[in-house]
Amino acid sequence: MDKRTDLVGLSQAELVGFVQQIGEPAYRGRQIFAAVQHRRLRSFDEMSDLPKALRERLRETATASTLTVESRYLSADGTRRFLMKTHDNFPVETVFIPEERRDTICFSSQSGCPLQCTFCLTAQLGLLRSLTPGEIVEQIIIALNDAYGVGEKPPRGTNLVGMGAGEPFLNFDSLLRATRIMADPQGLFIVPHRVTVSTAGVVPRIRELATIPDRPHLAISLAAPTDELRDVLMPINKKWPLEELLGACREFEQTLKAGERFTFEYVMLDGINDSDEQARQLANLLNRHDLHAKVNLIPHNPADPLPYQPSPATRVEMFKGILESKGIHTFVRKPRGRDIFAACGQLAAVTQTVGLGANSQGG
Ligand code: SF4
Repeated sequence: MDKRTDLVGLSQAELVGFVQQIGEPAYRGRQIFAAVQHRRLRSFDEMSDLPKALRERLRETATASTLTVESRYLSADGTRRFLMKTHDNFPVETVFIPEERRDTICFSSQSGCPLQCTFCLTAQLGLLRSLTPGEIVEQIIIALNDAYGVGEKPPRGTNLVGMGAGEPFLNFDSLLRATRIMADPQGLFIVPHRVTVSTAGVVPRIRELATIPDRPHLAISLAAPTDELRDVLMPINKKWPLEELLGACREFEQTLKAGERFTFEYVMLDGINDSDEQARQLANLLNRHDLHAKVNLIPHNPADPLPYQPSPATRVEMFKGILESKGIHTFVRKPRGRDIFAACGQLAAVTQTVGLGANSQGG
């Protein structure tokens, strides 16, 4: 077990406190914070502006990187998937998705996931453990360094989505700590406004998020318009059924500020949740709760051993048409990285590229 302090998981103020504890002046803390978070250096050896004696001392008590990249897969569409290991050997997956106007990094909040969504490959791993704030931040550092070079400024803006492995709201404190560290202008400078987290519906944390002023955008993974079906697809629904979930969503929506995004994600499973009737049920459900959030329809892609097939494109369009006819803003999300098992919610430490894609939605 590595007992050294992971400096990637410390805010600038905490890093100042850390160096003062070992008898160093405060400015050294700020210098190390910038080296880790802004210059994205992952070893003390590279921090050549620090005195050699200090670097040696730091090596004994602290670390600037705890994740190791085991494999890296490059998709035909430019998406990169990283399969990493924690210091104690648990898998962590991160996906970098280049887009014309911005890049998106999809990070994991847990190794595996305790929730049992039946359309999700990650669920098959179970929960291995929750990730620390440092492990969340380091995924972003690794992905940016790989895409642009160590410390190089990303040419486009970077958006983050917490839709990789795990249920972010079951690791809420670490998630919020990580977003605060990443927001520091002297560090990565990725503000909460650039971050979206997706939950399978952990109602108490939705309510808590509603009270936080500087928060990431929220997405709710719905997958079904009735409790009967949602109980099967997303068993968390048995704990927090749709009435309770959508009630909390309504409360959350009332706290939205200008420019804030709030979305529902709906994975499209052939013959399971994609009928005209289900589209009407979904629209009525959202309208009944007076919710104005847009709906993202996410084409599912088959992956062994998941028992579902994707809805045909014409079905997705029909579904979208019905929602829109009832006043629901609806978008069809384009899947990325299907050929390398990089699509959301489908991260299950798959170690080789295969022909079939895998895509669904993360929690
Ligand atoms: S969809 Fe999200 S919450 Fe559900 S099992 Fe997969 S990773 Fe966990």
